[in-house]
Amino acid sequence: MREIKEIAKAIREAERIVVFTGAGISAESGVPTFRGKEGLWKRYRPEELATPQAFARDPKLVWEWYNWRRELIAPLQPNPGHRFVAALETLGAQVTVVTQNIDGLHKKAGSTVIEEVHGNIWQVRCTKEGTITENTQVPLPEIPPHCPECGALLRPNVVWFGEALPQDVWMRALDAASKADLMLVIGTSAVVYPAAGLPENTLAAGGRVVEINPDPTPLSGTVTWSLRMKAGEAGRALAEELGLNI
Ligand code: NAD
Repeated sequence: MREIKEIAKAIREAERIVVFTGAGISAESGVPTFRGKEGLWKRYRPEELATPQAFARDPKLVWEWYNWRRELIAPLQPNPGHRFVAALETLGAQVTVVTQNIDGLHKKAGSTVIEEVHGNIWQVRCTKEGTITENTQVPLPEIPPHCPECGALLRPNVVWFGEALPQDVWMRALDAASKADLMLVIGTSAVVYPAAGLPENTLAAGGRVVEINPDPTPLSGTVTWSLRMKAGEAGRALAEELGLNI
């Protein structure tokens, strides 16, 4: 396929690569996307549960949902999409993964520089002191969980609808995007701002952008290459073209 060859060449030539990922890259691992039907839990839409208001109203309900998602994600493995992204590091370019995903699968695949702009489902944050700790207990022994230090409620360390992105992480992501000569945008519908604006930074600075998504998105018309493929298929094809072992 001509596009795969062109993109592989661009990857080989690149010195700074940003890989910007969304829920779609984890779909083939079995993590439901929010906009798919399987994303539903009981009768709730994610937009009703992933908000500070929902947590203030009913922390037990919100934690039950997160506990369900943690149980669902815990046994899942990275797919060829994640593994291709991790293998890019062996080519010698500087690779920064910027992900909207909270599932931890990029780390599991072996990527080393990961900016999690929406947080991580395997971290909890004290609502009083702001302390962030890792927590991989599945299922949670107490719902909702409380801080062992001060007894305040713990919350998932994720960014909810209506909340700001963690500024330090976001500034690093923006900096990497504006310095990248190549950005791969994989599995994001590119509708959730400000993260969705990241590819614009790369394009504005003269970098090239590849979109990998089986469906067209608002970004499709502006990018250098738009590959209408699943992340795993594209990962496999590009890895083969580049001689990467995934
Ligand atoms: P989204 O659900 O809005 O969109 C997913 C995108 O992935 C769609 O454009 C879809 O066409 C595409 N897609 C579906 N299957 C694919 C595949 N096999 N390969 C490549 N692309 C595929 O997700 P989003 O844009 O990432 O944003 C929604 C928010 O939901 C994010 O903030 C994220 O934090 C959160 N979320 C995270 C996870 C996760 O951690 N895995 C899962 C669901 C939602």
